[in-house]
Amino acid sequence: MEDFHREGEALYCEGVPLGEIAAAVGTPTYVYSHAALERAYMDLVDAFAGLDFMVCFAVKANSNLAVLRSLAAMGAGADIVSGGELYRAVRAGFDPKKIVFAGVGKTESEIVAGLGERILLFNVESASELECIERLASIHGKKARVALRVNPGVETGTHEHISTGHENSKFGVPVEEALQLAERIESYRCVELIGVHQHIGSQISKLAPHVEAIEKSAELVKELKGRGHDIRYFNIGGGLGVPYRGDETLPSPLEFVDAIRPTLKETQAKIICEMGRYIAARAGVLLTKVVYRKRTGEKSYVVSDAGMNDLLRPSLYGAYHEVVPVNGSTGSVAGADLVGPVCESGDFLARERDLPDAGEGEVLAVLDSGAYGFTMASNYNSRPRPAEVMVRGGRWAVVREREHYADLVKGEIVPAFL
Ligand SMILES: *Cc1c(COP(=O)(O)O)cnc(C)c1O
Repeated sequence: MEDFHREGEALYCEGVPLGEIAAAVGTPTYVYSHAALERAYMDLVDAFAGLDFMVCFAVKANSNLAVLRSLAAMGAGADIVSGGELYRAVRAGFDPKKIVFAGVGKTESEIVAGLGERILLFNVESASELECIERLASIHGKKARVALRVNPGVETGTHEHISTGHENSKFGVPVEEALQLAERIESYRCVELIGVHQHIGSQISKLAPHVEAIEKSAELVKELKGRGHDIRYFNIGGGLGVPYRGDETLPSPLEFVDAIRPTLKETQAKIICEMGRYIAARAGVLLTKVVYRKRTGEKSYVVSDAGMNDLLRPSLYGAYHEVVPVNGSTGSVAGADLVGPVCESGDFLARERDLPDAGEGEVLAVLDSGAYGFTMASNYNSRPRPAEVMVRGGRWAVVREREHYADLVKGEIVPAFL
């Protein structure tokens, strides 16, 4: 993590000591590095050089407006999965011509909103959705551009919760059905088929599943073109993994693109990639303070003020995040758990690990938390969600205030009959 580094004993984000941010804003707090976002985005842009392409940021990975604005300003597009993400993407300044909308359950109002903003395309995931889009586009006098999300039927070897391209997945349609839907679109007046889409999962650590899936989907592009459909976009999805463990090496964007370059070229389509984790994961850390230390039997616990409601990934997927001290070098404590204050045994940020032997009051950084961190945070246990901070060079700013108790009950009503 070059954008997070040590100067002497202190951990910095770019030019700013993280201890300074923790002291000023409190904890838990997510801190994002603008330089790291740009580095990851440019890695992708450089990798696709020589192809006609567009890099869309998967908004669900990190939907803070400041993060989105940064990426929009770099020229990125947006991959959205809900009306709320459309709202954010438009507010953040993404060009609607660079917005693509996926998701198996788009509601009528979400589709109408997408049509209203004239987004580039809908990634259609079923026959019923296609019919719905045709009907709504017709009512509203719009033309809807769509890509068919095909399910190439490959296993990714990742956690089942983040694998989306296997045969019985709820996502997309099988190749055969995609061909039938393309036929059906011929008879639709307000839907224009312009692309093929696939996305097989997240945190994929090997190239083979990507290559296999993209080759299968590219065949569909060629087949549809052969049948006279004007397929101009081939959306290869996201899913490139990042090394959460220090000793992991994962395929780089360049290795990824080089492995599929001839296949992509052959389609003669504009390539869309939708990366979330690759762009945002390493651009963020979660700062948390040690509240207590305790031992039960043989087990050593570090109790932090951040819990599963702030960073769900370890509890949800058994995900691994490196944990380091923000100030000074501590020794380490073996086989320890970093746990939060939430009343669940599954509330942990790190388990059975050599953790920093940090004293009560010391601040720790949970690394690589920029993707699927804050966006998965909840108010469980009536805990206000953390603050978010953006660093750029020597400057920093709060980009989302820490929630207040009043936010916890916002919109709640005690009716008169009680
Ligand atoms: C979540 C998602 C992505 C991004 O996945 P990452 O693993 O974060 O790159 C891309 N496309 C679609 C359709 C998604 O649902």
